[in-house]
Amino acid sequence: MAQANAAAVTGTGTSAQWLARYNDSLMGVFGSPQRVLVRGAGALVWDADGKEYLDLLGGIAVNALGHAHPFVTSVIASQLTTLGHVSNFFTSPTQIALAEKLLELSVAPAGSKVFFANSGTEANEAAFKLARAHGKAHSPAGGPARTTILALDGAFHGRTMGALAMTAKQAYREPFEPMPGGVRHIAFNDIDALREAMDGTVAALILEPIQGEAGVRPLSTEYLLAARELSKAAGALLILDEVQTGVGRTGAWFASIAAGITPDAMTLAKGLGGGFPIGAIITFGEEPSQLLSAGQHGTTFGGNPAATAAALATLHVLETQDVLANVRAVSRLLADGLQKVDGVTDVRAFGLLIGFDLAQPVAAGVVTAALDAGFIINAPRPSTIRLAPPLNLSAQQAQSFLAALPALIQTAVAAHASEGA
Ligand SMILES: *Cc1c(COP(=O)(O)O)cnc(C)c1O
Repeated sequence: MAQANAAAVTGTGTSAQWLARYNDSLMGVFGSPQRVLVRGAGALVWDADGKEYLDLLGGIAVNALGHAHPFVTSVIASQLTTLGHVSNFFTSPTQIALAEKLLELSVAPAGSKVFFANSGTEANEAAFKLARAHGKAHSPAGGPARTTILALDGAFHGRTMGALAMTAKQAYREPFEPMPGGVRHIAFNDIDALREAMDGTVAALILEPIQGEAGVRPLSTEYLLAARELSKAAGALLILDEVQTGVGRTGAWFASIAAGITPDAMTLAKGLGGGFPIGAIITFGEEPSQLLSAGQHGTTFGGNPAATAAALATLHVLETQDVLANVRAVSRLLADGLQKVDGVTDVRAFGLLIGFDLAQPVAAGVVTAALDAGFIINAPRPSTIRLAPPLNLSAQQAQSFLAALPALIQTAVAAHASEGA
């Protein structure tokens, strides 16, 4: 058959036509989608009606190099036309090279290993099983079983049952109780609470260095260092969920490694494949790397040639184009600019993961006004806006948002006031 694009199999339509079909055919778990997107290039995307947007959310910290990056797409396309999937009865050069690259970038010590999955939640499922396996291997004979997993208030670790058990938000959990057992949530960034909770029943502590879904809330370096020390002393694993913060997002390859922490395991997903679905868990050193033995964990799709090629290509561009320096520079520009905007009360910028608070709970209104003005942003909380744009966002693109923001906030505040009246 001749080469073709997706329109050959979807047909075409206006946004309104597509959204009507969406509502008739897709499960309602995401509410009503904001737009129907058909095309992207770099930090720009276009909807089905031809309207252009500057994408400052990047598919929620996923499109690390923006949309349709020429090098990444050509590597993926070439891999797909060569060999796309083989199952884990077999391996492939891209899988092996990606594992080696991740161990190198994370400065992992000898004996460290990688397992590939397809998403963040799956990477965290592997972490959950790793914690259980560690607990089994290190429960004292006749003593209490080491089954507890400590997670933090405000945590988000994914939507499958194990990851959900480690996620804190009641609204996500309650409809699906009972949760897998053994998980305890403790106060955020509170070293005393951690010290108190860290007893001989704890198998693992799981942390996001910066809580993205909770509105870009960082753990202090002091807390991360204490977490490392206390979990080690108690014989528990320290697991860092860097699904959102990893792979250059904060201007370093990994936020926890940059803070001087070597975890026992680290989970990755979002930005790793530059838009192609892939997740990973890295185990640091011999002991955690030997916990899951042959037959104890698996996946059909995880680590397939196409996804691992996508990740290798993404890492290659990030590294050879010094994209992390751009992350740091554009971060400073955005942070400085946001601080000067009327109605913005607090700015938390960690590379290109940026949260800022508004004086009023109008974040949803600002998102709507932004879409109308051609900007994609996100409101993880009623008074908080999150930005997680492509890591190669230009200074000029960042400036265009800063210039537009005051009017977006005014529009949202006015709409909020008239609703209240
Ligand atoms: C997004 C996210 C997840 C879940 O990833 P999925 O790919 O949606 O399953 C887990 N942890 C963190 C910190 C995340 O930001």
